[in-house]
Amino acid sequence: MKKHTTAEHTVWLKREALAMGFSFVGVSKARQLEEEAPRLESWLKAEKHGKMDYMANHFDKRLDPRLLVPGAKSVVSLMYNYFTESKQNDQAPKISKYAYGEDYHDVIKHKLRELWEKMEVRVGQVEGRIFVDSAPVLEKAWAKNAGIGWVGKNSNLISKQQGSFFFLAELIIDLELEPDGPIKDYCGTCTACIDACPTEAIVEPYVVDGSKCISYFTIELKEAIPLAFKGQLDDWMFGCDVCQDVCPWNRFSKQHNEPLFHPKGELLAMTRSDWRELTEEVFKELFRHSPVKRTKYAGLKRNIQFLD
Ligand code: SF4
Ligand code: SF4
Repeated sequence: MKKHTTAEHTVWLKREALAMGFSFVGVSKARQLEEEAPRLESWLKAEKHGKMDYMANHFDKRLDPRLLVPGAKSVVSLMYNYFTESKQNDQAPKISKYAYGEDYHDVIKHKLRELWEKMEVRVGQVEGRIFVDSAPVLEKAWAKNAGIGWVGKNSNLISKQQGSFFFLAELIIDLELEPDGPIKDYCGTCTACIDACPTEAIVEPYVVDGSKCISYFTIELKEAIPLAFKGQLDDWMFGCDVCQDVCPWNRFSKQHNEPLFHPKGELLAMTRSDWRELTEEVFKELFRHSPVKRTKYAGLKRNIQFLD
């Protein structure tokens, strides 16, 4: 096996990931994210995670990837596009774009396993782990560190080239790579996301009160949606795209190129009354491999009823 330099490994890995369909790739040195500790602590103390207890677990591990992966040297951050021009019937209650197709966890993990195999052929055995939208990793902080975007006032990772409709994933590995550096914040004086949020969940720039967010109500919350929010969910039945749809940087979004993310024709065609009459059989068929499964049939029914 030919010996390559750290720089060569880095260039190779990025090129391979881009060839496999990832849009942006950046590298950080594995270290403790000490600058994130006070932010994470005060967010949790203020109970901004609502009933999402998993956010409060593994505090130390979330700040230091070396506790998740002993011997880790590098965090590779990757972005996978899910933006689509496809639209649901305009009378239907809305589903967030990211959930139109097959479950991104499976799709992206599969790609990263393939990338890993290629990497081991080239560099020999690599220890580490793959993460896709995974709670123990502060993925936006790592992506920001690696310079593939900045964290906007809506708390999404935004690419200057293509906006924010991306899934984030990481490889935490014991392979030494050349780190990139952060880029600046391009939100400027814009407040479009704060002004447009239907539930006023962006309580101050860069701070989303998770316990007021429509995504939380329609996906995470297991009990009844608080009546105080009746009439405020802007017709979202699964997730919410408002603070991304209004972001000027998303004018640069491009249609994704992933067949597995294409929505089923039946899903787009369903009218409001079709959704109201949704049966468990149709739910199972429609969302067999979809992230929408997460709410279960009863959860989606609850959401649809709450909108009426
Ligand atoms: S996802 Fe929707 S509810 Fe949540 S912060 Fe963004 S606009 Fe507000
Ligand atoms: S809408 Fe404006 S303030 Fe909000 S994230 Fe986008 S650029 Fe930043």
